[in-house]
Amino acid sequence: MKKYNFNAGPSMLPREVIEATAAACLDFEGSGLSLMEMSHRAKNFQPVLDKAVDLIKNLFDVPAGYSVIFLGGGANTEFCRVPYTFLNKKAAYINTGTWAKKAMKEAQLFGEVVEVASSADKNYSYYPKNFVIPEDADYLHVTTNNTIFGTEIRYDIDSPIPLIADMSSDICSRPVDVSKYNCIYAGAQKNVSMAGVNILIIKDDALGKVSRQIPTMLDYSVHIKNGSMFNTPPVVPIYCAMKNLEWVKANGGLEGMDKRAKERAEILYSEIDRNKLFKGTVAEEDRSLMNICFVMNDEYKELEAEFMQFATDRGMVGIKGHRSVGGFRASCYNAQTIEGVQALVQSMKDFEAKY
Ligand SMILES: *Cc1c(COP(=O)(O)O)cnc(C)c1O
Repeated sequence: MKKYNFNAGPSMLPREVIEATAAACLDFEGSGLSLMEMSHRAKNFQPVLDKAVDLIKNLFDVPAGYSVIFLGGGANTEFCRVPYTFLNKKAAYINTGTWAKKAMKEAQLFGEVVEVASSADKNYSYYPKNFVIPEDADYLHVTTNNTIFGTEIRYDIDSPIPLIADMSSDICSRPVDVSKYNCIYAGAQKNVSMAGVNILIIKDDALGKVSRQIPTMLDYSVHIKNGSMFNTPPVVPIYCAMKNLEWVKANGGLEGMDKRAKERAEILYSEIDRNKLFKGTVAEEDRSLMNICFVMNDEYKELEAEFMQFATDRGMVGIKGHRSVGGFRASCYNAQTIEGVQALVQSMKDFEAKY
């Protein structure tokens, strides 16, 4: 049976990207060696890294004065590297759920953390607005897409202080005005690659502003100076990212991804709103195009497990909601197809017809 992959992360990648990465693991560019068993300093690997950096610069139209690096450690490591590097006395964070709270917890190790806004009062089912940003804070940290709760801002906030964003689950899904940010970071395993690499876009002159000593591996400027090669970088995830970024470019770039995301989300949210069995969990204007969360309507609550089985029998994979929201979550990252979303919608319709 054909499987439709709605996993929240690691998640679906274009088949051709997986095949190209698998091929490189068997025989890297006709070298007779696997990409897994050769030096990252080999002459034929440097072009892979260079191409991945160039593709990010090109797709995001990264202005002069910014560096792009690829680092290991997962987005969770950036939760600590960011305040280590940018927090002098005080930082402002928007609390939009699990990931934002983890980022705040790490920042508290380095200084005062101001929660400028929070949607905790309604289980993070909306994106806070109309908050006041303290002008004496070193930066404002935002999580642009909240993978677990299914809220998202698909615009770049105007901030009087430097903006830093965790874009782990919506990077490369829309055009971004990089000039508004001092730092953008993302674990790649939601929208760009397999697990194992982070993408960072950093404004060069934002670095070196804190007085504390920074351990070498946590120091962005060391990694920038060494072109992501201070230590052995995760070569296979970088290769996979490069291939996927080529795929993004060939499919209309970030505008193309934005258009696809809107088409998919429109199909699925329309069905959630139309179908009497289901309802969305997020305020309409803040609905994520990446992680589409929905639950059974109150009268049909007892059918949840049955729909789960019904959809699974029809090939849906990974639609179980996170335990903090319940119900269902269909993750629709860049590689998700209209066909996949339509298959899920058909399951919802067929299930409705039973009741
Ligand atoms: C998944 C996720 C993370 C955590 O990423 P790791 O690479 O597992 O550390 C952080 N932020 C957001 C928004 C995420 O979706």
